[in-house]
Amino acid sequence: CGIAGYVGSRDSADVLIGALSKLEYRGYDSAGIAVSENGSIKVKKCQGRLKNLVDKMDREGKPVGHVGIGHTRWATHGEPSDINSHPHGNKRVSIVHNGIIENYKQIKDFLLKEGYNFVSETDTETVAKLLDYYYDGDPIATITKVLAEIKGSYALGIMFRDFPDVVYAVRKESPLIVGIGKGENFIASDMTAILEYTRNYILLEQNEIAIVEKSGVKVVDIHGEEVSKEMNVADWDI
Ligand code: GLU
Repeated sequence: CGIAGYVGSRDSADVLIGALSKLEYRGYDSAGIAVSENGSIKVKKCQGRLKNLVDKMDREGKPVGHVGIGHTRWATHGEPSDINSHPHGNKRVSIVHNGIIENYKQIKDFLLKEGYNFVSETDTETVAKLLDYYYDGDPIATITKVLAEIKGSYALGIMFRDFPDVVYAVRKESPLIVGIGKGENFIASDMTAILEYTRNYILLEQNEIAIVEKSGVKVVDIHGEEVSKEMNVADWDI
């Protein structure tokens, strides 16, 4: 299981696949990516090795854009399948998740009553749909409302269709770092995923939200207040 995210000038699908391949040692049963392409979020995902995903994109065309999120899944809720693979969401919001949402059943019941449909058996899809439910044009306000409701462990990469140049990231009890490059920035489960691009990174405390853009990264707390973060340098060799 692993997460990668990219905001920059490169082909994001290529960067994401490369980064996810470095996280293969963590184990996984499915893989997928979401990329913002011409104002919409394009998703490609499938069960099996990363190679299956690459083959699928060779056949069907890969999403082309400079901003994206990627995932390798270690299934906890819902069998390994194309449908249960991440990213999850809809036209407006797309997420990748490592971890377990303990109260997903309550959230799902609530959202079903609100008229939402679910296509997967994952706990993750409830978070994606809860983000959509609260979405009011302000991603940070939306994410903080969702964080107040979800229980469990998570590293999340989040994209909103209306903010095609931004990746949002948050974590609690699951690993996630933010890589700081030159004119490009990253998220990843660990630094090995992105060491070919940068050695600079920041750590996220529980429920801090990273707003990752090409020009820079801002971190806010659960109240939306900006937090100043220390830059770390990975000085070890791989
Ligand atoms: N609980 C989620 C699922 O089963 C995420 C699993 C993971 O960490 O990859 O889809």
